[in-house]
Amino acid sequence: MATSVSIGPIRGRLAPTPSGYLHLGNAVNFVLTWLLVRRAGGTLHLRIDDLDRARLRPAYLDSIFQTIRWLGLDYDTGPRDPAEFEKRYSQLRHVGEYQALLDELRQQAGLLYACTCSRTTNLPPSSLAATESGCHGCRATFSTAGAAWRVRVPTTPILVSDAWRGPVPVDLAATMGDFVVRKKDGLPAYQLASLADDLRLGTTCIVRGDDLLPSTAAQLFLAAQLLTTAGFAQTEFVHHALILSAGGQKLSKSQQQPPDRGIMGAVSSPRLVYAAVAQLLKLPEAAAESLSALQRAL
Ligand SMILES: [Zn+2]
Repeated sequence: MATSVSIGPIRGRLAPTPSGYLHLGNAVNFVLTWLLVRRAGGTLHLRIDDLDRARLRPAYLDSIFQTIRWLGLDYDTGPRDPAEFEKRYSQLRHVGEYQALLDELRQQAGLLYACTCSRTTNLPPSSLAATESGCHGCRATFSTAGAAWRVRVPTTPILVSDAWRGPVPVDLAATMGDFVVRKKDGLPAYQLASLADDLRLGTTCIVRGDDLLPSTAAQLFLAAQLLTTAGFAQTEFVHHALILSAGGQKLSKSQQQPPDRGIMGAVSSPRLVYAAVAQLLKLPEAAAESLSALQRAL
């Protein structure tokens, strides 16, 4: 499997969200990102996405730093601990910048629209999937209180260029629908904030799970609407297979039960994480011995 990323100053990032304890899938993504960026001689930033403050818990924030240390990983820029994060790196510090980007997008004719529909407004449960795809006639305007701002997605697929898999067409209308860029509470939504953050940080390489392919397509589509964000198209993307639970389910923080303390509580050693990474990269089992063994085998 080709694992190299392109020549040039590589800048990657780890981008966890403190809305739950980090699970195996997050840990695998961190190790994989670290390996690819370090192998290319690049720099790594720790970016913590905390716009969703209602779900943030100090224990989750702590566990991000603990898990990175436990995995034996390092990074070059970003917060060193929760206190420094809150003081200097919270996404709340950039709300003005996100809003400026939203205003620019709003000026693009026909691109954004306002919507107050909830996922279940006036529709039977059988059509729940359809309600995810966009507005169903609320006629809100940008000045309507409590309206979300949605992006009208194209009917033709977005081509995501993946460093491992080549071009991958993503049908945004089918996978995501008219996605939200400003939430009903007035705060920017994930796609918008993630794009703005990666542009500000000078990110050149994004390593994420397959489940985020639609997000990559959404961000590429958004970025292509403005000259100021068009450079995002140069980002190198690697989408990797997801690590599934024993029952074959996608791992997610929302599945966590109260006693679940995430990956550090689930296994006694990071070797299990290294083993999962070795498997993803089709490396020999011995590569799972340590982080440096993984590095040598890559
Ligand atoms: Zn609507």
